[in-house]
Amino acid sequence: MPRLPHRGAGLLALLLIAAIFGAAPAHAQDDVTLATLRVQIWPEYDQPSALVIVDGRTTENVATPIDLRIPLPPGVTLHAVAYPDSATGNLLNAQYEASEDGVTLTSPNGQFLLEYYDGSLAFDGNTRRYTLAFEVPYDVEQFVWEVQQPAGASGLTLDTGATVQRTTGAMGLLVQRVVVGAASAGETVTISFSYTKPDRTLSIDRLNPGGDVSSPQVEGSGQPTVLMVALLAGGLALVGAGVYWYVEQTRRPQRRRPGGRARPASGRKKNAAPGGRRFCTSCGEAARPGDKFCRNCGKRL
Ligand SMILES: [Zn+2]
Repeated sequence: MPRLPHRGAGLLALLLIAAIFGAAPAHAQDDVTLATLRVQIWPEYDQPSALVIVDGRTTENVATPIDLRIPLPPGVTLHAVAYPDSATGNLLNAQYEASEDGVTLTSPNGQFLLEYYDGSLAFDGNTRRYTLAFEVPYDVEQFVWEVQQPAGASGLTLDTGATVQRTTGAMGLLVQRVVVGAASAGETVTISFSYTKPDRTLSIDRLNPGGDVSSPQVEGSGQPTVLMVALLAGGLALVGAGVYWYVEQTRRPQRRRPGGRARPASGRKKNAAPGGRRFCTSCGEAARPGDKFCRNCGKRL
């Protein structure tokens, strides 16, 4: 019995030491600011659910590599965790740890991209509705969210009081964009929209009925349109410049996406053959289990 106070004090000391040393990295994380953060929602793209693509980059003064924690809404299926290679823009698999409510990824260059599917896209006859309570992970200088209207759908309506920019995405689909601007860590941004679609054909099947897609190196014609719309919509010159800057920052991974995303719908099934090793269809590099992008060239597997 006389030992207990002593052991208690020792434990307290250990806890204090742990707190002191544990606090240093946590505090560094708190100082992170994202220069850009974008949430793209692609409903009924290659799954009968909402594909959510979150990408962004830290401000220049943030030391890299850096661990970034991105919250996940409940019940979603994580699909890919990646970062664009600084030199090539190709998406490469990032190291990460996922828990039920978030992903902690290591970004070598402060840039990141993650994708998840949210099955809470509501089908009500021909009407679809979706709401995402997006938790802003860090202070953000330029926060943007976008919704891509599926092929064969109409009447996309964003539930927002903010100005909605209409543009054409790289796949020729209507994209509606809200430029939120600055946002604070911990803030919840409600992203909500509806549209009408008379069937359940996925965009990827409607756009590529034969399943063959162009090489990811082929640059789509969508990007100039984005730029033009950004400039036209920008009698608000600041907003236009901000969006243009943002597009320029992310254009490389964005451009390869149409080809990059298009193949998995068929390729995933083929590659998933039991016992078969997977190889990059572009460069032949062997893929490891769980890889979503080629470790060599960044092509989507
Ligand atoms: Zn490859």
